Amino acid sequence: MNIHEYQAKQLLKSYGAPVANGAIVMNAAQAEAKAKELPGPLWVVKAQIHAGGRGKGHFKEEAAGEKGGVRLAKSAEEAAEQAKKMLGNTLVTIQTGEEGKEVGRVYVEDGADIDRELYLSVLVERTGKVAFIASTEGGMDIEAVAEETPEKIVSVPVEPSDGVTDAVADKVVSALKLEGTAAEDGRELVRTLYKAFTEKDMAMLEINPLIVMPDNHLRVLDAKVGFDPNAAFRHPDIEELRDESEEDPLELKANEFDLAYIKLDGTIGCMVNGAGLAMATMDIIKHYGAEPANFLDVGGGATKEKVTEAFKIITSDPGVEGILVNIFGGIMKCDVIAEGVLAAVEEVGLKVPLVVRLEGTNVEKGKAIIANSTLDVIPADDLEDAAEKIVKAVKG
Ligand code: ADP
Ligand code: MG
Repeated sequence: MNIHEYQAKQLLKSYGAPVANGAIVMNAAQAEAKAKELPGPLWVVKAQIHAGGRGKGHFKEEAAGEKGGVRLAKSAEEAAEQAKKMLGNTLVTIQTGEEGKEVGRVYVEDGADIDRELYLSVLVERTGKVAFIASTEGGMDIEAVAEETPEKIVSVPVEPSDGVTDAVADKVVSALKLEGTAAEDGRELVRTLYKAFTEKDMAMLEINPLIVMPDNHLRVLDAKVGFDPNAAFRHPDIEELRDESEEDPLELKANEFDLAYIKLDGTIGCMVNGAGLAMATMDIIKHYGAEPANFLDVGGGATKEKVTEAFKIITSDPGVEGILVNIFGGIMKCDVIAEGVLAAVEEVGLKVPLVVRLEGTNVEKGKAIIANSTLDVIPADDLEDAAEKIVKAVKG
């Protein structure tokens, strides 16, 4: 689960991170009033959407050449004007895709003088260790830095039993080339971020940019935070920060039924049990030249009701041109799955080709149920056969 920049900043501020003062506003009048409470002489007006690249983005309704979702203002009146231009309009950034995202909230913040823009993030490495990722090349597209100049990105892992030692803090600070007061700020910030990250069960914390100001102090200028959904039950306060308007409606629905579903951009809807099998299914769809429309793991003990809900979710995605059901019956028996799939098809209706591959416990019974049904279901023998058939059915 992700939160807005202003929420992330409030959270980090509560841990003592250097964050500017600011206020969230929903209309222009509020923007002006709140800006007047800040000292000035520079304000920054920032569109709050769950996507990065706002600064380089553009509003759909505006002519080319206009500024994006991060704008400077030299007076409270100007801040109000900028907020008015953003609110209710659709911001398109490299991360939102063509359709963009409607801006419902705007953050008005104290502007900062910037000497250097740095990059600092915290994540969980594949080893399971928390690591700091630091780079002097902040403010821009970190993916491009990773691609073109990977030596400019330094990773500093933290031993869970030791936490942030002086050595860890020093490594991060030297990777960011900080000196004097900025180095002191940096060491403290590393400890602060680690505490926030671990206490709040974050999955990702990204500060881009972290800036060095002319007085050689640091400030968190942008903050992006994602939380580990498996720990959500421990943090009702974080759950309250959820902004459902930012989330995919199909993913929200899937969440309700405890289905692990992630929407993707392809044309082949997948219903699979087990995350590993779901990944393999997506791989083989790609191998045969198509793209998956989703990741969907119905779980090991999927009931008929769950299968039906999963079907509804897949078929309500307008991008889906074909469906591949790939089930390995272990705890679940194939005949039960087959009946569940057919019941779902009957209830939801079927406007696109459907290939079903079953394997495992009671597979013969399951296949017989599919074969004997009057519904238009294409049976498959194995994973390859299934992928080939659904790709052929969709591509004609
Ligand atoms: P995004 O990453 O979505 O584009 P950022 O918050 O990183 O949004 O803002 C983009 C750029 O705008 C920053 O790299 C910085 O140069 C400038 N900026 C953002 N906030 C401020 C601020 N409070 N004061 C001055 N400049 C800012
Ligand atoms: Mg940024």
